[in-house]
Amino acid sequence: QEENTMSKKTNGQELQEKLTWKFPHIAKDAPQQMEKASKFCEGYKEFLNGGKTERECVRLAVRMLKKAGYKPFDPKASYEPGDKVYYVNREKSVIATTFGKKPLTDGLRINGAHIDSPRLDLKPNPVYEKEDIAYFKTHYYGGIRKYQWGTIPLAMHGVIVKKDGEKVEISIGEKEGDPVFCVTDLLPHLAAKQNDRKLAEGIKGEELNIVVGSVPFQDEDVKEPVKLLALQILNEMYGITEHAFYRAEIEMIPAHKAADVGFDRSMVGAYGQDDRVCAYTALLAEIETKKPARTTVTILADKEEIGSNGNTGLDSDYVLHYIEDLADQAGVKARDVLRNSLCLSSDVNAAYDPTFSDVYEARNSSYINKGCVLTKYTGARGKSGSNDASAETMAKVIGIMEEEGVYWQAGELGAVDAGGGGTIAKLVAHMNVDTVDLGVPILSMHSPFELSSKLDVYNTYKAFKAFYK
Ligand code: MN
Ligand code: MN
Repeated sequence: QEENTMSKKTNGQELQEKLTWKFPHIAKDAPQQMEKASKFCEGYKEFLNGGKTERECVRLAVRMLKKAGYKPFDPKASYEPGDKVYYVNREKSVIATTFGKKPLTDGLRINGAHIDSPRLDLKPNPVYEKEDIAYFKTHYYGGIRKYQWGTIPLAMHGVIVKKDGEKVEISIGEKEGDPVFCVTDLLPHLAAKQNDRKLAEGIKGEELNIVVGSVPFQDEDVKEPVKLLALQILNEMYGITEHAFYRAEIEMIPAHKAADVGFDRSMVGAYGQDDRVCAYTALLAEIETKKPARTTVTILADKEEIGSNGNTGLDSDYVLHYIEDLADQAGVKARDVLRNSLCLSSDVNAAYDPTFSDVYEARNSSYINKGCVLTKYTGARGKSGSNDASAETMAKVIGIMEEEGVYWQAGELGAVDAGGGGTIAKLVAHMNVDTVDLGVPILSMHSPFELSSKLDVYNTYKAFKAFYK
């Protein structure tokens, strides 16, 4: 007989198990979720590839909503539990609602994610030629590390409004065989001086110039013939002239597609996962909600990366006005609805990166494969600019997740005074709504190729489903 040493735990060990807490690694605790998570992320990767700008995300979301039976919101109509509506704000933000069984004054369940991502925007006057090379001038949007944007294939996405008001959608660099564009960088042989720059200035803002052409229009008598050829090609493709760039929003973004990462294919690598990972999971949870207890408000917002400003960002009143319309319809006051509402500000957080561990505090960081991350507060320094969710709000959301067996973890955005950041949380809280941040831990956040764990994406979706039950 073999001695069984496994089953005996000491008093101390038993007490330790009872009194202490560690978030489990999902793949160790529930390896059966791997397959489900992988399957779930096939749709997620498609969403990332199909929605690479906020406008494209809105179009994709509306297509999914319509297919699921959602109708455009009509403030004059009246709705029953289970009815589904959506509202589009200027093609760059969308709100979806499933009406709940409880009265509106019991509060809404609000889930706000954002669909804008850091990128290089074209300047209003972008096209120029220098020494027989044609370029686009850019102005970066959101927090980028500029040196990461050199020497990678870029695609051109956006919209141009023609003189007659017609809108032209541009997408070059996505289809097989399309040309791509790029920012050049120095060869190491000649980079000695550049190497002495601080990393933040490795490539400077005015050096983020994108190569768009190199051969001239065949005419000895024109100045800037390379620029002219580029314009001629654009004119043939879209019927536009240089003047049209003043009526445009053009985004230059990484051309690569979402991919599985790792031998085990456990991660998704892609551009724009901040915050389309929460947008996709929130949208699916919204669509799959049948007759929720409380009316849902799923928001896919624009402009988060530059502070949620502008009328498609959450610092605008468009969400408040939407909720006021819902309240008017139900014959109640919006303020009575808002004060009883609960909001998940759904956004990504910085996953602990073992290679750069010194900017994290290990005990209070989020880790890939430990589930969605609940972030009590963001901000900088002494929580400045943060929503700082109450204990009661934390208890509510943790309770909702644990009841449905969602894998979740808590995490701060890095160590104290290492930096900081903000989300839409404080803007929703401003409307007198209990709000807390929840999302997916991300490695290389804001880079052209961000990493997420499929298990975390799947559990974020599960958290949103539980939230809308
Ligand atoms: Mn974000
Ligand atoms: Mn961000």
